[in-house]
Amino acid sequence: MRTTITAFFSRAIPLFLIAAAYFLSTRTNAMSDSQLAAASLSPYVIFGVGAILSWKFNRSREFYILIILAVCLASTTYLPEIPGMAVRKEDIYSIICLVIPLNIALFSFFKERGIISLWGSLRIALILAECLFLFWQMKSGDSKWLNLLNTDVVPVNLHAVTPIPQLSVIAFVVTLAILLVRLIVYRSSSQEISFISVLLAMFYVLDQSSSPLLYSIFFAVSGVVLILSIIQDSYSMAFSDELTGLPSRRALKQDMMKLGFNYTIAMLDIDFFKKFNDTYGHDTGDEVLKLVASTLQDVTGGGRAFRYGGEEFTILFPGKNINDVLPHLEELRDKISKRAFNLRAKGRSKSKSKKRSASTKATKQIYITVSIGVSQKNEKYKTTESVMKSADTALYRAKKKGRNCVSK
Ligand code: GH3
Ligand code: MG
Ligand code: MG
Repeated sequence: MRTTITAFFSRAIPLFLIAAAYFLSTRTNAMSDSQLAAASLSPYVIFGVGAILSWKFNRSREFYILIILAVCLASTTYLPEIPGMAVRKEDIYSIICLVIPLNIALFSFFKERGIISLWGSLRIALILAECLFLFWQMKSGDSKWLNLLNTDVVPVNLHAVTPIPQLSVIAFVVTLAILLVRLIVYRSSSQEISFISVLLAMFYVLDQSSSPLLYSIFFAVSGVVLILSIIQDSYSMAFSDELTGLPSRRALKQDMMKLGFNYTIAMLDIDFFKKFNDTYGHDTGDEVLKLVASTLQDVTGGGRAFRYGGEEFTILFPGKNINDVLPHLEELRDKISKRAFNLRAKGRSKSKSKKRSASTKATKQIYITVSIGVSQKNEKYKTTESVMKSADTALYRAKKKGRNCVSK
């Protein structure tokens, strides 16, 4: 429960940041010229930092959205000021109202294929082509095309509600819907929440006013949100196991350092897993690992499960002794041994699609078991390493006893 609440709050940080930006924007009093100049430069500094980070962490989606935001902000701020440029502020406004949601939608669909790669170059070329095309349209003064952006496509009058053209409002709504669907489908990614936050921030700023300060604040905060998305996802990649989604061995090392004077450690190993792989194939083995991990995730008795490596898992029970945790481990072992894995025909299986498996004629149910060794901190085992080693020895005893049992 606590981890769910923590996860919710850490995922919701982008939305809090946008709310903070709103709060700040409603409270900014008159600023001096130098403060205004600093504020107007801040988004570009943030975009620069974000671009370097996204390049270093190989996060192309954030990279391109940062570039698009930078180009849009620079176009509204500087383009009309350049002598002889003869572009109208209103045209730039209409264009960025559409360009921002469409590009966020577009780049949220693109797969992660790197920045310095053929795919990366193609995407940069796409952004450049967009910029050149739109700039050429503005310069040519072809009002027919630009008027199209302001045309009402459905018979709903939004002009009294927002200055954003109707077509762009639709683009914002559709993009939001796409991101929400992606958020539900890929629940693990903080990227979608960040993109949603950026989208909302952009809608607000475009809806509100043409105040340069407001633009600076919301574009800067959007940059911060994207940087946060890079950091959050990279952090979770480093500390969670890719296959099972459980915290990884690196997270285990960290948590072991936090253990106090009283704790119990359990080591768990799948029985005869090599034979399982040899019989049903490595992919099926992977699916079974996920199934076991999902059971371990719900371990009771105050335990937290980690993937130690291969088909071995560790459970830490801070503040608990062996007698406290034994019934929970016994329950866990029993639960795993009774949980059927539905193997589909031809050995190709998808554990989650139980309904489909049920409807497939050649479905075979397979069961696996685990052995568990457990040890606690005491006079004999004083360090986390020695407790873990003792749990490992207990696991060996459990295997010797015939497997599918808990040994201390
Ligand atoms: P025991 O009951 O004594 O534990 O027997 P075992 O076969 O499980 O033990 P052993 O350590 O000999 O084999 C572990 C096997 O686990 C070897 C390897 O094929 C499999 N394995 C390890 N990591 C993975 C993984 O990520 N995916 C799959 N599919 N198999 C894995
Ligand atoms: Mg093993
Ligand atoms: Mg094993």
